[in-house]
Amino acid sequence: MTERVLGEKLQSLGVQVQRPHRVVGMKQNENDSRITDVSFEDGQVIKARYIIGADGARSIVRSQCPLTLLGELSDDYLQIRTIAGIGFSDPEGPDVGDNLLTQMVSADVTFEPEPVGPLALEGHLNGTIFSGNFFLLTPFGNRFNGELIRDGKPTTKSIFRVGCAIPMKSGEPPHAPPKEYIQDLIDTYGPACITSNPSLNPTPVKIDQLIWSSRFRSRSAIADRTFTRLGAAILLVGDAAHIHSPAGGQGMNLAIRDAIFLTVAVTKHIQACAENPDVDDTILQEFADTRHARAVEIIDYSKKLLKFASLTYDSYAWWMPCSVASIRDLVLRILGRFDFVQSKVAWGLSGLGRR
Ligand SMILES: Cc1cc2nc3c(=O)[nH]c(=O)nc-3n(C[C@H](O)[C@H](O)[C@H](O)COP(=O)(O)OP(=O)(O)OC[C@H]3O[C@@H](n4cnc5c(N)ncnc54)[C@H](O)[C@@H]3O)c2cc1C
Repeated sequence: MTERVLGEKLQSLGVQVQRPHRVVGMKQNENDSRITDVSFEDGQVIKARYIIGADGARSIVRSQCPLTLLGELSDDYLQIRTIAGIGFSDPEGPDVGDNLLTQMVSADVTFEPEPVGPLALEGHLNGTIFSGNFFLLTPFGNRFNGELIRDGKPTTKSIFRVGCAIPMKSGEPPHAPPKEYIQDLIDTYGPACITSNPSLNPTPVKIDQLIWSSRFRSRSAIADRTFTRLGAAILLVGDAAHIHSPAGGQGMNLAIRDAIFLTVAVTKHIQACAENPDVDDTILQEFADTRHARAVEIIDYSKKLLKFASLTYDSYAWWMPCSVASIRDLVLRILGRFDFVQSKVAWGLSGLGRR
């Protein structure tokens, strides 16, 4: 849906997005050292001077870039190891801990009967945090229903986005969790008034349509280099350059900011090359360094948010009469009453404060 909306906007500005064309390989052009031949799945080959790797976390562009040299200090000598592609790893090393967002399930559903009351107010985010788990419910209303048909039936009811953390000890959720799995999560973790359990809810509510569902595991990683050359200038943006947990919803915002600054850098570089064909890559390298630093900041920010959200109700300090999570909840409840605090948090999360 997001891609369609963005695609329509681009079309209205005269930009054509060509789909589907899957990149499968890249190699330096044999006749021109500043050009790369990019191969597509359908056999087409395009000669490029600039390549923007905006192809997501499993970026083929990133993995096709020149070899990365890794220096490893073993007992008595430095061993040089090479791996294909640009390295992509957590700047702080692998995180093996179990936190609230280590694995999550998300789904859009409609209910029968339709929930009413404050919980169903469009635009409101309803959240419940437990020790080691949370449940989110966001009513989307029926503005997008015209686009949706499931199992041959048009979607007429209000759509709700369900999000639920799955503790590691509960095992791995299925790939596209079925209706029964989502229903079970709602009955276990959701607010009583939307459960199908008659002992909790006098008017049991059941999932009617499952629009889509997905599971994901979150981790943080950043590309060792955001700019390199394989003949053409290759620049990575968005999830191809960095990924982090969805805490704070920063991924898409950061990707869009990368793209905005990229256009400025590439335009400047093209203009500089027009004036002097031997111009170096300082403009592109500066762009890459700035975006790399920004991504490191955002990864750190999302990790801190995640730690804050993952405080549990059974962890106490010796001097505290209640758990750290209870203190967090109290502080949030008090601060959340102030408009300026809400605006500050919204500004921070929007990414506009950290361009
Ligand atoms: C559950 C979840 C919730 C999230 N919530 C938020 C949120 O609230 N706010 C937020 O800002 N971010 C959020 N994010 C993160 C956000 O979705 C990503 O950061 C963002 O989509 C990254 O955009 P991208 O264009 O870099 O990559 P993608 O969206 O992954 O797009 C990559 C594109 O490249 C194409 N592609 C891939 N391989 C090739 C190839 N070989 N050849 C050609 N094309 C190719 C794909 O088809 C795709 O269209 C969330 C992520 C998840 C998983």
